[in-house]
Amino acid sequence: MPGFELFGDLERKEVNDVLDNGVLMRYGFDGMRNGHWKAKELEKELQNTFQTNHVQLVSSGTAAVSVALASAGIGAGDEVIMPTFTFVASFEAIMMLGAVPVLVDIDDTLTLDPKAVEAAITPKTKAVMIVQMCGSMGNMDALQSICTKNNLLFVEDACQAIGGTYKGQPLGSIADLGCFSFDFVKTITCGEGGAVITNNPEYYKNADHYSDHGHDHIGNDRGAETHPFLGYNFRISELHAAVGLAQVKRLPEFIEIQKKNYTILHDALSEIPDVTFRKVPEGGEESYAFLNFFLPDLESARMVAESFKTNGIHACWNYFDNNWHYIRKWHHLKDAKSLYPLSSEIKEALKQLQTKDFSQSDHFIGRNMSCLIKLSWTDEEVRERANMMVKAITSVI
Ligand SMILES: *Cc1c(COP(=O)(O)O)cnc(C)c1O
Repeated sequence: MPGFELFGDLERKEVNDVLDNGVLMRYGFDGMRNGHWKAKELEKELQNTFQTNHVQLVSSGTAAVSVALASAGIGAGDEVIMPTFTFVASFEAIMMLGAVPVLVDIDDTLTLDPKAVEAAITPKTKAVMIVQMCGSMGNMDALQSICTKNNLLFVEDACQAIGGTYKGQPLGSIADLGCFSFDFVKTITCGEGGAVITNNPEYYKNADHYSDHGHDHIGNDRGAETHPFLGYNFRISELHAAVGLAQVKRLPEFIEIQKKNYTILHDALSEIPDVTFRKVPEGGEESYAFLNFFLPDLESARMVAESFKTNGIHACWNYFDNNWHYIRKWHHLKDAKSLYPLSSEIKEALKQLQTKDFSQSDHFIGRNMSCLIKLSWTDEEVRERANMMVKAITSVI
């Protein structure tokens, strides 16, 4: 997945444009910038990549989720349904707005189970956020129809699925709002950065203002701009955008390499009867950022994870015992370990997480192995890795 693996002259050239004129900020300083507007250019480029009307760059993927929700008016006390398997950013971004994260089970797609979503809807539910984990997607049609029926905002966190599609549409562009991250380990990187995408002009305008202190961005005198509403600073810098501009042009190349490497590993593991694969909904095409497969049970998954480790097969994880991506070990969340007071609604929701039954999620995450697909492997290295993985698996199950 990581764009940082293939990093070079193209990135250097874009960054040098910015360093040469010294305008590191994306807004203003028109006379000094020698025609370079890297953030604006990257937004245009991403409009094409994601086939969307509007793109707002921000400072991170976490910021993108907060800005997306805020731009649609989600705030204090509003419940946002999200999955148990994701990155910690999901609940952070929701709680930052005073909204309440409601965690629900995943299914064999490793994303939100539509039935679990439906069961979690209350009068306070305002949004459903799917997280397109590890390069693939959920049952988008089922989730969309639940949102439409219940008048809920549908948000896609596609931070890990850049380049994947569902029925021909880029992941991230299907729901009301989509969120991306360009941090250092994502498919394309800015160093740090993120984007909100939408076809809704009102949400876009709100995201544009909100991510820059509520500035209306009218005219070319920043000091004279008004603030139609409150905002924060989630701006991306020109230096970061410049790196992203070089990277986004290479996205088709990155996806092709991922697909090639993924396919070699996938075909090799398919030969093992006890190995099954994550379900990809009909009409979906993964970004091939990760290869996800299931073993018969938690015990065998743990043995395989151990066997991979001892055989030097790195960048493969069983997330059941992982601190970053799965609710089981998010003790700081369940124990509401906050530096500052949290609202009573949020505290109540977090307390419920301590006892809520997530055995359905355990069933899938406990048996899952998730393997990063690297761009820098040679053909020979991938084939060697495939052989080693097959041996490591068949030696323990
Ligand atoms: C990386 C990631 C984020 C957050 O992105 P940052 O840019 O690191 O803040 C959010 N959601 C998911 C699923 C991610 O993988």
